[in-house]
Amino acid sequence: MRKRKMIINLLTIFPDIFDSYINESILARAQNKKLIKFNIINIRDFTNDKHHKVDDTPYSGGAGMVMKVEPIFNALKTLKKSKVKGQRSKVILLSAKGKIFTQCDAKRLSKYDELSFVCGRYEGVDERIKKFVDEEISIGEYVLTGGELPALTISDAVIRLIPGVIAKESLEEESFSKNSIPSALNPKPYLEYPQYTKPEIFEYKEKGKKKTLRVPKVLLSGDHKKIKEWREKSSK
Ligand code: SAM
Repeated sequence: MRKRKMIINLLTIFPDIFDSYINESILARAQNKKLIKFNIINIRDFTNDKHHKVDDTPYSGGAGMVMKVEPIFNALKTLKKSKVKGQRSKVILLSAKGKIFTQCDAKRLSKYDELSFVCGRYEGVDERIKKFVDEEISIGEYVLTGGELPALTISDAVIRLIPGVIAKESLEEESFSKNSIPSALNPKPYLEYPQYTKPEIFEYKEKGKKKTLRVPKVLLSGDHKKIKEWREKSSK
């Protein structure tokens, strides 16, 4: 078990985005069990001008607005001040240009005590922010409107790996739990076997004709050896 709860700081200019996702299901339970704590930090609260400006036009022209470095720097500085000695922490900038996030990163990040996510918007963040972040991560080769969904995606993948959040057995055979870094010997990552639940026979109609979809017989056999073999074969 971890000694202290993991703190997740979400730095954003749209703080209302997160509420419904983090307060449901497994993430809500993890907070109730005091295994994790979310701090939603409004970057706008760290501006020094009377208009609370968080963005400005790009130097030398170009489309859109760029997020200013000062308010994010100020927010990160405040977080640094409240850091407990010996705590392992990381500041992550969400960026389409970053290193692609994998299950391996989720495992690695689940060992930290504090993760701070800087969520970009518009054309992104002033490049000088790189001096104050530890990693730049992308969740895939596509462009989203903001870093909030990537921050939630990464947080979710990390949190479910924290001991006590979900049953250990659920993690043991799930996709990417083995060979999450493909090697020459195991070029493909492990993907979980197919899962079925009731009813045993699912009936539906297609173009007026009755059709059925059945659960594979072996799963109803009660023969544990055969089921294990089927699962191993199907997961490859
Ligand atoms: N102009 C940027 C570019 O071409 O790479 C895209 C900016 S995007 C519209 C605004 C913000 O969304 C980014 O600063 C980043 O925080 C977030 N974002 C967009 N796509 C992302 C991805 N695939 N992974 C992580 N963050 C992403």
